[in-house]
Amino acid sequence: MQFTNLLRSEIKETINKESLDLLVIGGGITSAGIALDAITRGLKVAVVEMQDFAAGTSSRSTKLVHGGLRYLKQFEIGVVAEVGKERAIVYENGPHVTTPEWMMLPFYKGGTFGPFTTNIGLRVYDLLAGVKKSERRKMFKPEVALGREPLLKQEGIKGAGYYVEYKTDDARLTLEVMKKAVEEGAYALNYMKVSDLVYENSKVVGVKAEDLVDGSVQEIRAKKIVNAAGPWVDTLREIDKSKKGKTLKLTKGIHLVFDGKRFPLKQAIYFDTPDRRMVFAIPREGKTYVGTTDTVYKGDIAHPKMTVQDRDYVLNAIDFIFPKVKITAEDVESSWAGLRPLIHEDGKSPSEISRKDEIFVSNSGLISIAGGKLTGYRKMAESIVDLVTKQLHEEDGNSFPKKQTKNLPISGGDVGGSEGFKTFLINKMNTGKKIGLSEEEAKKLIYRYGSNVDIVFNTYRDDKVKAKEEKLDPVVYASLRYAIDHELAYKPVDFFIRRTGAIFFDIDWVREHKDSVTQFMKKEFNWTDEQEEDYKQELEQLIYEATHPVEKEEF
Ligand SMILES: Cc1cc2nc3c(=O)[nH]c(=O)nc-3n(C[C@H](O)[C@H](O)[C@H](O)COP(=O)(O)OP(=O)(O)OC[C@H]3O[C@@H](n4cnc5c(N)ncnc54)[C@H](O)[C@@H]3O)c2cc1C
Repeated sequence: MQFTNLLRSEIKETINKESLDLLVIGGGITSAGIALDAITRGLKVAVVEMQDFAAGTSSRSTKLVHGGLRYLKQFEIGVVAEVGKERAIVYENGPHVTTPEWMMLPFYKGGTFGPFTTNIGLRVYDLLAGVKKSERRKMFKPEVALGREPLLKQEGIKGAGYYVEYKTDDARLTLEVMKKAVEEGAYALNYMKVSDLVYENSKVVGVKAEDLVDGSVQEIRAKKIVNAAGPWVDTLREIDKSKKGKTLKLTKGIHLVFDGKRFPLKQAIYFDTPDRRMVFAIPREGKTYVGTTDTVYKGDIAHPKMTVQDRDYVLNAIDFIFPKVKITAEDVESSWAGLRPLIHEDGKSPSEISRKDEIFVSNSGLISIAGGKLTGYRKMAESIVDLVTKQLHEEDGNSFPKKQTKNLPISGGDVGGSEGFKTFLINKMNTGKKIGLSEEEAKKLIYRYGSNVDIVFNTYRDDKVKAKEEKLDPVVYASLRYAIDHELAYKPVDFFIRRTGAIFFDIDWVREHKDSVTQFMKKEFNWTDEQEEDYKQELEQLIYEATHPVEKEEF
């Protein structure tokens, strides 16, 4: 079924009629992975998300597919080995949305890492993660490190380690996995909130789902219900009366974005803060972003905000390692804040808590999954679907094949892996230029849409007049049309945050196009004036929050 809210009623009706094997609550990377794994093994699966896909933690991360080098410090060998290996798989299955990024880890006199520990650490990392030869670590003398990144503090530098991580767009990765699941036959709908669970003989057999667009409520039944609600996992466990034993601890992390002209970082850097935490500074699309913080959070889960203290912590960290930049609060162009759904461990500080995922099965049969990382989504999905298929086999005798996703390109990833992507990029750049796109525009679209880019290119080529009539720039029109027709976008925030990432990395573009995009979406979806006003306000509020910290945490 086409993945568009223009067919919202039909999708709802189909989910209602289907006799589902599995219903997944939540539309972040964990749910997307579970839906894809389940559908490829032949299960009938549906996903319901109360906000937009990836609107929870999965659009608010550091946007790295990484093994978690810092976990070596805590001897989390298992986590590093597993997610380290996953990096290459995530990359190969969607090289348009995930790209290798050489990371430099400078070490200073008196810092956490020295030449010896960095060398050993990176070597162990290479081994554990099975890193290919061309991407294995290198060690730099101070002058080489400073040559690669002249903005680095010179005083006390003793050298640097150099190793590969992978940069991604977390929200688009989530969408591409979800789209692939839908292409394979899964059903997924945003703005559907699970407000209650339905039981028979004390066993969970379904959910009450409230459509947050029209206010209607429907019951959705399935043989198995998985709670993959990220930071809300315990909220659903409370409804299930099974929130006991281990519980979630939420910690907040923020990132700041600067214009590349003001903070012209050439090289991604992973560095020590004055309080000996590790923070990333990463160049991206003409901007530089830096983060993250890690503080206990008890406020509104749907709206974590950057505080003045968070902002100043990151600014101080930048000043500590890049003193020449003389960064100030006025230089912050955008930001975001996210919540880590971690599993509580007594006596540990936020940064010390393990990032391992865990599965809880309640007496009612509700299966909850929490913790973990974006990077390990495929493995988390595998363990959930292994459990679900085992239970279905025991209960009904049904058999399902083993996992199928290791070599399965995600949506947009049909480009012949990382090697094939190089040729794909050259060919599509030529096509883009032929139809009148600038080199920069074509490249952006190819990286954003991968093998689906032809649909966007064709709209751009064929619908220039239509775009003009709608007072939309033709590139914006082509991307918006795709987001509406193929990616279930419904509100302006869906387009400007999760479909394009523009609120973070191109906020002026959002300001420039927000009115024409909102007008067009109103017409497409037949919104009432009240809806239009609400959605406009929502976008304005999020633009404001991205650029203005709150004085203090609102508990
Ligand atoms: C600051 C920060 C930096 C990070 N950096 C990285 C990184 O660089 N690399 C990495 O691998 N990992 C990173 N992580 C971790 C990673 O982002 C998370 O592990 C991952 O995104 C969690 O995904 P999820 O699907 O479990 O949760 P979410 O993305 O939060 O998805 C859960 C969804 O469930 C929905 N939901 C909740 N309740 C209901 C309900 N009742 N009905 C319907 N839907 C509901 C929510 O709206 C939400 O969208 C980072 C996390 C943070 C906070």
